[in-house]
Amino acid sequence: MSELFNLAGRTALVTGANTGLGQAIAVALAQAGADIVAVGRSDAADTAARVAAVGRRFDFIAADLSGAEPAQRIVAEALARQGRLDILINNAGIIRRADSLDVSEEDWDAVINTNLKALFFLSQAAAAHMAQQGGGKIINVASLLSFQGGIRVPAYTASKSAVAGLTRALANEWAVKGINVNALAPGYFDTNNTAALKADPERSASILARIPAGRWGQPTDLGGAAVFLASRASDYVHGIVLPVDGGWLAR
Ligand code: NAP
Repeated sequence: MSELFNLAGRTALVTGANTGLGQAIAVALAQAGADIVAVGRSDAADTAARVAAVGRRFDFIAADLSGAEPAQRIVAEALARQGRLDILINNAGIIRRADSLDVSEEDWDAVINTNLKALFFLSQAAAAHMAQQGGGKIINVASLLSFQGGIRVPAYTASKSAVAGLTRALANEWAVKGINVNALAPGYFDTNNTAALKADPERSASILARIPAGRWGQPTDLGGAAVFLASRASDYVHGIVLPVDGGWLAR
């Protein structure tokens, strides 16, 4: 059974792996045997140490993912460093909170470009290589706001709803090439992304009250689902958006 989930000999490129969910996903994939290429704008020394601690290789590529521009370079550099690319985790993302009446064009563009545009063009660049190699795994980090409207985060909701649609669109095109495109939809996890919610006692309590599991997610709670979607265990799974939410959507 463990062979199904074994990632030994695979290389995973993880965006935004210096902290939060991206770090937890990178470490979980490394624990399953994958070597890691982390991509981001901030140094990922802590993640490098955690990956090294489980005996896997780690490389870091510095890139600002607020637009499409670095996609080809990132994939070329990852291939130059590790010689292969089997798994792409599109995790990097930002959130800007404001009433819809007050959202600026700058904030709208920043969120859509980082959460959606960069994700698409990195997927495109990775898929071109994966198709030649005979297959691969692309995992997008979606959100509960791929299913729901959210509160005071319209650009974020638009981006994450589009990520769900794009996951299905790319799965339709690339399944035949042996590329699995799927998404994870994390519920409320304790990271920088949700710090403002946690700091608001009313929002924090109302969120907690709705989570059947009775607690916020810890980044490590996402690891198993990420390994599943990155492994042979999910070879016939295409175009799903998998909630990992303590039961939030079941409520
Ligand atoms: P986080 O701690 O804020 O991490 C976000 C990551 O994205 C960081 O590594 C960040 O790098 C990177 N990033 C942002 N903008 C970037 C840019 N222009 N170029 C390169 N890297 C950039 O939050 P998180 O919760 O782990 O978020 C990870 C993903 O999960 C996001 O897509 C988020 O929307 C999604 N998500 C989170 C939750 C939750 O409850 N936490 C729920 C649903 C979905 P820096 O450290 O340099 O900023």
